Amino acid sequence: MPLVSMRQLLDEAAKGGYGVGAFNVNDMEQVQAVMEAARQTNSPAIISASRGARKFAQDRYLFHLILAANELYPEIPLVMHLDHGNSFETCKSAIELGYTSVMMDGSLKEDGKTPASFEENVAVTKQVVDYAHERGVTVEGEIGVLGGIEDGHGAGGTGLEHITDPDQAVEFAERTGVDALAIAIGTSHGAYKFSKKPDGSVLKMNVLLAIHKRLPNTHLVMHGSSSVPKDLHDIINKYGGKLKPTWGVPIEEIQLGIRNGVRKVNVDTDNRLAITGAVRKVLWESPEAFDPRAYLRPAREAMQKVVALRMKQFGQAGHAGDYKAVSIAEIAKGYKNGTLSTKPLVAR
Ligand SMILES: [Zn+2]
Repeated sequence: MPLVSMRQLLDEAAKGGYGVGAFNVNDMEQVQAVMEAARQTNSPAIISASRGARKFAQDRYLFHLILAANELYPEIPLVMHLDHGNSFETCKSAIELGYTSVMMDGSLKEDGKTPASFEENVAVTKQVVDYAHERGVTVEGEIGVLGGIEDGHGAGGTGLEHITDPDQAVEFAERTGVDALAIAIGTSHGAYKFSKKPDGSVLKMNVLLAIHKRLPNTHLVMHGSSSVPKDLHDIINKYGGKLKPTWGVPIEEIQLGIRNGVRKVNVDTDNRLAITGAVRKVLWESPEAFDPRAYLRPAREAMQKVVALRMKQFGQAGHAGDYKAVSIAEIAKGYKNGTLSTKPLVAR
């Protein structure tokens, strides 16, 4: 099947009442890990490429790796998604390449660091929506600012400085027509999210519930949502690593989100931890090893294991065969004739 629009995939997820993980990739092994996990669990899949990934792997390499995945796993509905686009131009370049979904993160200015004003965010996001929808491409926007920094992107901080205001979320969704909305509820990018198991004082699930109440049909997105499990952490430190203790977003909180409008869950850190732990283990236990496959194979398997587990926990497992991909051209027609609504349902 062709690459799927994220809008179609999230609409289907809403019908089925499940969430879909969006997994970041930078290289072939990570693409393979996501696809094998998807096949193993019979899941639809979202592969995310950040600006950092596009730079690291070069656009064409990454694009063709994902196309190869699409070719080799024809039974898996697959979205090619740009994570945290920082400008109209970045989103446009991804759309021109063939991405079927882009995130315009207008919560930050183009430098990817400085919080933008609400009006700036609305303006640039709307510009991307107009351009993308004409071409059948999905747009995710962000309102509120996440904490932490990853790949040089982010405002830093704890994530509590710019929690999403539910009224602003409504206005943002109405004025931009985004297909999916990332919200800030206290989570952060990177490995260090919380200094203890998070409670309601730092992880604002009540804000998420309030936004879902106001925007019951809007697909919400949780960023910075790795769980940072202790066992992955421990493997790294057991084999010579020096990670400080840290806590991520507990799976049960993500599942609460999924019961309340969350359709996309971004996961990157957990996979990074799994890969690094596996590489460290091999090199520690077999100092004579020098064939890269000796550690890349276990690294790929470790990531696949994490992804497959998340696919089951988010509920997407078993849903790959529910539907067939509608072409991007058909999706574009849907936006044009209004069958794909860009007006959110608002409960006042
Ligand atoms: Zn993010």
